[in-house]
Amino acid sequence: MKILVLNAGSSSLKYQLMDSTTEEVLAKGVVERIGLAGEADHSFDIGGAKGKSSAEIADHECALQAAISVLSCPDGGVIADLSDISAVGHRVVHGGEYFSTSVAIDEDVLAKLDEVSPLAPLHNPAAVTCIRASRTLMPHITQVAAFDTAYHQTIPPEAHHYPLPRNLYDKYKVRRYGFHGNSHRYVAQRSADLVGIPLRDLKIISCHLGNGASIAAIKNGVSVDTSMGFTPLEGLMMGTRTGTIDPAIVTFLMRQENLSPDEIDNLMNKQSGLLGVSGISSDLRDVLDAQDRGDELARLANDMYAYSIKRLVGQYMAILGGLDIIVMTAGVGENSPVMRAAALAGLEHWGIAVDPWRNFEKKETFADGKDGEFKISATGSRVKILVVPTNEELMIARDTKALL
Ligand code: ADP
Repeated sequence: MKILVLNAGSSSLKYQLMDSTTEEVLAKGVVERIGLAGEADHSFDIGGAKGKSSAEIADHECALQAAISVLSCPDGGVIADLSDISAVGHRVVHGGEYFSTSVAIDEDVLAKLDEVSPLAPLHNPAAVTCIRASRTLMPHITQVAAFDTAYHQTIPPEAHHYPLPRNLYDKYKVRRYGFHGNSHRYVAQRSADLVGIPLRDLKIISCHLGNGASIAAIKNGVSVDTSMGFTPLEGLMMGTRTGTIDPAIVTFLMRQENLSPDEIDNLMNKQSGLLGVSGISSDLRDVLDAQDRGDELARLANDMYAYSIKRLVGQYMAILGGLDIIVMTAGVGENSPVMRAAALAGLEHWGIAVDPWRNFEKKETFADGKDGEFKISATGSRVKILVVPTNEELMIARDTKALL
């Protein structure tokens, strides 16, 4: 059975066609610069053959059509026509309080997605447009929405409410939602499989460290806290986002610098984090290189990044009442031994010890592990520390199959 997974961003569409039995990726691609001036870029990998094309693409419907024509290309395509696709899984950033699992999409689901769109104004409208286009093109097959927020709906009230006047929650549903849910869910389950202990018996801290970064505390298979909140701005210091700061800084800077809400929003989301502190880049690789060359602000940025991870690991150990596994994933978690070591240094007292050789050489793999999965904890470290490449698309495809 072939399942198409779609991930619509504000001006992009990523797609993957997966064989749901073997879980093999048959084809994948990304269309970028949708609806912007000039031509959109479409790059794809169809059964190992890579290609690129450029054309004007007005909206997500046109992008989806471009994707399907590549997938069904007579010369090397992986489907004969649309009837080869059994179901479609859509990544949707925000499900508000309505969705705690992935769901099959119907008109009621679409109405709820429209209703929660103000909570994710850049992302949800694109997903809804893409869902509608996909339902028009493939009206007879099941289409599923898999939410970034859904996994965190189990976070208890004392952790998901903010200490604001209650009417603001009633009126706007201002609360912690959390994001990266499909990633945290995937790496937690995968870690349990790798160590051979049921997920329901484990206390896990999952660190998704990409451009956007969040940590989740997972107890007995459910999320009990996570660092991103009402928006993806809260929590860890990120590539260009502040993460948690004193909220009074916001009003102070707005007054002092005469900034509008949009300007302060831009400053905190796009100009801060690693980029803001180092003045060099939002990409950790660049900032680590600059530190190696002796740049003191780069060093500070890297130290702050590591510190913000360690601080949350400590918090979540307290919340979980113990810890069995720390799992690292996404660009930084999967690829930066330096940051992994810095973030978890000095925690030996708590049973957390990184083995430098395993961390840098990636040699401690698992008998039934996949590429990129390895253990970095020292022999004798009570807490197992794993690196597991994330796979949100696979999680979406599995949910889609389960809902068929
Ligand atoms: P996104 O959130 O866009 O999906 P990724 O998970 O791909 O992001 O992570 C991207 C980030 O991962 C880059 O900005 C970079 O900082 C970091 N990264 C990737 N490879 C390395 C590496 N070898 N060393 C340090 N950081 C890396």
